[in-house]
Amino acid sequence: MNKFTCNAQLYFLDTSQKIKLSKKFRNPNSKVMPHELVVSLRVKLPQAYAVVIALGSSGLCSNRLLIYHSCSEASVGSIPFGIGFPTLPWICPECGTTIEDYDEMSFDVIAIAKEPIEFI
Ligand SMILES: [Zn+2]
Repeated sequence: MNKFTCNAQLYFLDTSQKIKLSKKFRNPNSKVMPHELVVSLRVKLPQAYAVVIALGSSGLCSNRLLIYHSCSEASVGSIPFGIGFPTLPWICPECGTTIEDYDEMSFDVIAIAKEPIEFI
């Protein structure tokens, strides 16, 4: 089990929130998105993004940039987080539309844990 020390970087998390996070990440390949943390931890959205980004930069999670298109409620693709945005033009794998403007897309990030994580 990997341990993630929250300290200064995630100072706003209290003990009960750390326990909830540890439960979320008790299995390998656990996934979490910022909006889920807003609900489960009762944190603000920027704080939820801070948790996800901190996990990715720690190396305990491999984060992915999720790509959304108007044709679907679900994400239509993803690329590793931290390498920028997909190269345009980008062909939506769901509907086949050639997308030439980032305004036609939206994005989110997901943290995927390699191993179980305990938050301390
Ligand atoms: Zn599409």
